[in-house]
Amino acid sequence: MDLLKTSDLSDEQLTYLLDAADRWFRFNRTVRTADDRLKGINVVTAFFENSTRTLLSFDIAAKRLGAMVTTMPVDASSVKKGESLRDTAMTIDAMRIDALIVRHGDPDVPAQLAEWMNAPVVNAGAGAGSHPTQGLLDVATIRRHFGKVENLRVAICGDIRHSRVASSTRALLERMGAEVRLAGPSALMHDDYDGPDGIDEAVTDADVVMMLRVQRERLESELGDAPGEYLSRYGLTGERFAKAAPDAVIMHPGPMNRGVEIDGDLADSERSLITTQVEMGVAVRMAVLDLVTSQKRAVADEKSATARTIN
Ligand code: ASP
Repeated sequence: MDLLKTSDLSDEQLTYLLDAADRWFRFNRTVRTADDRLKGINVVTAFFENSTRTLLSFDIAAKRLGAMVTTMPVDASSVKKGESLRDTAMTIDAMRIDALIVRHGDPDVPAQLAEWMNAPVVNAGAGAGSHPTQGLLDVATIRRHFGKVENLRVAICGDIRHSRVASSTRALLERMGAEVRLAGPSALMHDDYDGPDGIDEAVTDADVVMMLRVQRERLESELGDAPGEYLSRYGLTGERFAKAAPDAVIMHPGPMNRGVEIDGDLADSERSLITTQVEMGVAVRMAVLDLVTSQKRAVADEKSATARTIN
């Protein structure tokens, strides 16, 4: 199976992934007795856009379950010689890999690859479109902290228009019964936006305040705000956060621009779940890799059982 967007997941698969992520989260914090369920599995990561958290956490997740991981050096590959995406996909597939983890600036690329390849494809962030594993890790972090997602008020603030995190996280939160409030500078909201007027309104009484980075790489023109100006107008300051619910928490998918969309002290405060999100990222990706490769492993198990019986 591929994981291209959150709506690919049935309710059963969603619950399975969140429960499994919780277990892997605990596993990663404790002794980590070896679990090599992905032994013999080849995972390839191909990141056409920059990444720290997602790339490393997929790599660590796969290795923690015993898989072999190969990173395609995109900048040093034949893509730079003009090879088409389809030829690249067919080349990688011919190596009989077991999963491709891809990040690309074009939102349609993961789905295209999935069409061309036999190996399961996992979308690790596609343009301004979707980022399903980030959505999963965000809801898993919230669920772990509050013990539920339903009826929580979640303010997602910042560059909504260009954020694949906003769309994937929002979709899962709403699916699980949370009230999602989106807010940001009007130039960074979708054209049909008709939510709260500003950040203050969105943050008021919120249980979770999730701040987003301005996606400068996707902006057609500069916003015009100096960093300090952005913070006071649209960012998370202490004064603004004081309007949230008394036990509210702060989230950010990273990378953060301290002093722009978030005050650095708040990011480091006890109310911040930002590093927990990173930790949950590894756990979620362990669960995802286990799920997307499970079909193939089942067939392999059956075949080796048959081979054992024959011999
Ligand atoms: N790391 C997240 C992403 O890849 C958020 C960001 O880049 O701002 O979408």
